[in-house]
Amino acid sequence: MKRIGIMTSGGDAPGMNAAVRAVARKAITEGLEVFGINYGFAGLVAGDIFQITPAEVSDVIQRGGTMLYSARYPEFAQEPVQLKGIAQLNKFGIDALVVIGGDGSYHGALRLTEHGYNAIGLPGTIDNDIPYTDFTIGFDTAVNTALDAIDKLRDTAASHERTFVVEVMGRNCGDIAMWAGVAGGASDVIIPEHDYDIEKVADRLRSSRQRGEKHAIIVLAEGVMTAAEFADKLGKYGDFQLRATTIGHVQRGGSPTAKDRVLASEMGAYAVELLMAGKGGLAVGIQNNKLVNHAMTDLFNSKHESQLSLYKLASDLAY
Ligand code: ATP
Repeated sequence: MKRIGIMTSGGDAPGMNAAVRAVARKAITEGLEVFGINYGFAGLVAGDIFQITPAEVSDVIQRGGTMLYSARYPEFAQEPVQLKGIAQLNKFGIDALVVIGGDGSYHGALRLTEHGYNAIGLPGTIDNDIPYTDFTIGFDTAVNTALDAIDKLRDTAASHERTFVVEVMGRNCGDIAMWAGVAGGASDVIIPEHDYDIEKVADRLRSSRQRGEKHAIIVLAEGVMTAAEFADKLGKYGDFQLRATTIGHVQRGGSPTAKDRVLASEMGAYAVELLMAGKGGLAVGIQNNKLVNHAMTDLFNSKHESQLSLYKLASDLAY
């Protein structure tokens, strides 16, 4: 193996640049040449590929977004399209790849491995919805962005004795909501992984008002419903001075936290080690603070295990 490629695919996440840097620097240190593939699988097929020098990845570790851009390119599920990608790999002499993205991207990476080009996947998504990893690259930054917004909303909620329903991202995964909810002292956290009873939410709000609490923050995962819908439902059970806020795509941007940069750096270097050991079709994760790898095929039949103890903790600490 002499040359490796690297791409970011699917939704972007803070820390992807730190991962690109780690893959490139580790590979170059090991005597390999590294090629960046722009726009994920679309760029692979189009041959939008360039050599990455060590200087190219200086001054990127602190930047959000992805210097390699990202794209959705469902056409890559078709074999003739995959073969066009393989032709580009041959043209550039790339023997193996690192693909940073979500589980859709892992399907593409696995197809390349099956064609004889080892590919290792790194979990890059703010949603934290990838199986066999406790954390994904970008999650911690997104939680901190959501938390910053919640802290600010608390200031205004307290001044006006209001209840804010704050909708956070995460698609069908409630991890951002749970982490931001516990860290932000939420009075309630609503996630897709757990049933909720709107009457109980209203009862809790009423009793906290009676105890003298002047405001409340309810953190709602987007996978449940929108903040406006939830506030609408809740408003039927009492006058809670409700305001609905959707934090939105700001959670996808910004300079990655130290935790995301370190995670991305560790995972990037580990991916190169796996490729150098002749491995492919593996997804990198971190479990109990240890780097791990699992067959991508195992991930496709599994679900991310959220730390649901945080859900209970948020509720226990709300009183
Ligand atoms: P995110 O979780 O942020 O959405 P993702 O990697 O799951 O990230 P997808 O849009 O599902 O995002 O997939 C990214 C890309 O991976 C697709 O645009 C496509 O190019 C490729 N891909 C997805 N599914 C397949 C598949 N079954 N076979 C080949 N390639 C695929």
